[in-house]
Amino acid sequence: MATLDANAESKPSATLIVTNAAVYTVDKQQPKAEAVAVIRDRIVAVGSRADIDLWRGPQMKVIDAGGKLLLPGFNDAHVHFIQGGAQLDQVQLTEAATPAKALVDGVTGDTPIFVERYDGHEALANSAAMKLAGIDPKTPDVAGGVIVRDASRNPTGVFKDAAMPLIYKAIPPMTHEQRLRAARAAVKHAASLGVTSVQHMNPEFADVAAYSELAEKGELTTRIYAVPMETDWRDQAKVGIRRAWGSSYLRLGAVKGYADGSLGSRTAYMFEPFTDDPANRGLLSDEMHPPSAMRDRLMQADAAGLQLRVHAIGDRAISMMLDIFGDIEKEHGYHDQRFAIEHAQHMAQKDFERFAKLHVIASMQPYHAIDDGRWAEARLGHERARYSYAWRSFLDHDVTLAFGTDWPVAPLDPILGVYAAVTRATLDGKNPAGWIPEEKITLSEAIEAYTMGAAFAEFQEREKGSISPGKLADMVILTDNIFELKPEAIRNAKVKTTILGGKVVYGEP
Ligand SMILES: [Zn+2]
Repeated sequence: MATLDANAESKPSATLIVTNAAVYTVDKQQPKAEAVAVIRDRIVAVGSRADIDLWRGPQMKVIDAGGKLLLPGFNDAHVHFIQGGAQLDQVQLTEAATPAKALVDGVTGDTPIFVERYDGHEALANSAAMKLAGIDPKTPDVAGGVIVRDASRNPTGVFKDAAMPLIYKAIPPMTHEQRLRAARAAVKHAASLGVTSVQHMNPEFADVAAYSELAEKGELTTRIYAVPMETDWRDQAKVGIRRAWGSSYLRLGAVKGYADGSLGSRTAYMFEPFTDDPANRGLLSDEMHPPSAMRDRLMQADAAGLQLRVHAIGDRAISMMLDIFGDIEKEHGYHDQRFAIEHAQHMAQKDFERFAKLHVIASMQPYHAIDDGRWAEARLGHERARYSYAWRSFLDHDVTLAFGTDWPVAPLDPILGVYAAVTRATLDGKNPAGWIPEEKITLSEAIEAYTMGAAFAEFQEREKGSISPGKLADMVILTDNIFELKPEAIRNAKVKTTILGGKVVYGEP
């Protein structure tokens, strides 16, 4: 028979206390507090400094936050994490206006390189990469893409859209070691920005293997929800994986599809032609040829218990996806499936109600609005731009917003996203009061979309997304209390300390 030791009847003591903080919990039961007690990886109490002092014990770490703001860790609902990690150690050409291979050949020599533009719709190859891929002046042009050539038809090294695979097919897939290296770089970067969870869209299964190895070694300091391509839904279904299956560190159970392209490349699928390209209404993706094929696959994936998340940017692509989700709900009934439209950028006004009625989550990236907002109106015209990145309209229709970045398309920093959501101030400085200011949201709403909203999008709202007793102890201390700053100054705030599962993973406490 087990014997009781002397302490067994007293309350267990904390392993970590964060005190002297301005705690913003994102928990409506108790929005503000001063201190938090943690036992191992879970929050056990949230309250005043005096309340939390009762949890003090001998084996305990104490972080004095110095009065600074403590938030739940940020959860980025849409990233391409391994690509982002790999890019951290690639050539950075973001500041280069018009590169061609002549500019990089001198430094890259015989090493083949192929660097994508930030939006993934254009890339630069050096001479070594073109040689490897067998590209020369006689290489024929490609429908849907461009091989940029000089006056004597010599390729300059720049390849656009459908011409990019000419080079990609010559690049061997990343090795396991390269994926591990990229994942390590990505989790380190995420921790430095207060991002404690990410939802990785379109990972390869080899990426999941890299995460799995890091999780086993205790090195996975970002929690991952991996969402592979919808065309591969059977790979998960055949082993019985259902939505949000896995551990607190690594989950599967969703699929991601594409309905259309992007506004930047004029491939977003629209009801009406682009204002600056009157013969063009954009393009449906390969997966939508025909739309019934997409519907059939998603229908089966839903029946298998997988969550459905689909990229749709143009108003017509969004509308068609709502039709498909509607068909699935009609067939299988509503069972809290949490369909998500990724990006949901340019809405037809008539579709907000349907979006809400079908309980579809709007998984959006606020930074895109202040970036694309510089030129989107030229492409869409004023009337249509009105419901672009329409966060206020979504919230007013009771649609759940889940925020993220699409990193590496945009920077991973959530502070920039929050800043974008509350200011809508385009990067060119031309809209200091906000581009389409009607669609601004409050700071609390933006933080909620980046924490609870994103947690809901991965079925984890009971496990994370707020600083509440019982939840995982994922938290971040900022250098500034962004609630006390002018909106335009929010972007200057930085992360002081990131805590994941009760352990400091970034910064000095
Ligand atoms: Zn993406």
